[in-house]
Amino acid sequence: SGVSSVTVIGLGPMGRAMAGAYLDAGYDVTVWNRTASRADELVARGAVRATTVEEALAAGEVVVLSLTDYAAMYAILEPAAPALAGRVLVNLSSDTPERAREGAAWAVKHGARHLTGGVQTPPSGIGSPDFDTFYSGPRDLFERYEDVLKVITGTDYRGEDPGLAALYYQLQMDLFWTALTAWLHTLALADANGISASEITPYAAQTLGGMGQFLDFYTPRIEAGRHSGDVERISMAVASMEHVVHTARDAGVDPALPAAVLGAFRRASAEGYAEDSLTRLFEVFGRGTA
Ligand code: NDP
Repeated sequence: SGVSSVTVIGLGPMGRAMAGAYLDAGYDVTVWNRTASRADELVARGAVRATTVEEALAAGEVVVLSLTDYAAMYAILEPAAPALAGRVLVNLSSDTPERAREGAAWAVKHGARHLTGGVQTPPSGIGSPDFDTFYSGPRDLFERYEDVLKVITGTDYRGEDPGLAALYYQLQMDLFWTALTAWLHTLALADANGISASEITPYAAQTLGGMGQFLDFYTPRIEAGRHSGDVERISMAVASMEHVVHTARDAGVDPALPAAVLGAFRRASAEGYAEDSLTRLFEVFGRGTA
């Protein structure tokens, strides 16, 4: 793309890592942050601290936004909206698909071009091609600046709809937070029984690491609408999860998380699917709240 200058607005842990990666890659880097002191280290490494948002917008051929959410983008850019005309925004702030669509339309209304991104690594992975960021928005814009984006992580373009990158990101977060929280619950239950985190974690890792096989096995069956209970049945899952909830209660551990899972199993059972596979939950969840 021939781009040599990048602006990073938002210097939380992610934005700081991104600005650092652009410095390492030899770009002219301009930074702006509401709390100006968060730029100090980057300035010491060669970044330019913009004193106004307008200056920050003007400096970079590509403007990366790394903010808590889209509300932060409006808080920062709305007062500087006239300076948006002709700018290229790469918004790596996470939010809902709908807010990403609104945000993209808002930027376009002010004459900017907008790519939505969803970064799939913590700050430690920024600068590495081993992780991907989802992107969506105008394809020509993505292709034109892909080499600039690749400084942050690998890229995975999902389509023109500006909500898509946010959607794929939220789908991953749905899984990630739920799975990681389940692990923390397991640790608490182990700890309440005198078993340390380092003792139980190898077993947890084995269980989580084996999940891919379950996903591979069930996915074609789900897509074919086949939920027969030939391998496991919801009636068994209800009994199994009741044991988990009771084991947690007996140990004085908060049972709310396994109880929520048990609630989903019971709902499917009450809807007449006790003899079906757990995969029936795919449909039950899709029908909304009980
Ligand atoms: P933070 O929430 O720590 O910081 C983001 C920045 O947003 C800060 O610079 C903060 O400014 C700014 N900000 C927030 N609200 C406002 C506001 N009202 N006005 C002006 N500035 C505001 O986020 P991270 O750096 O951790 O992450 C950035 C984005 O990346 C988030 O959307 C996050 O979900 C996503 N992400 C984070 C990951 C992580 O591991 N941290 C991993 C993958 C994605 P100030 O410094 O002044 O407070």
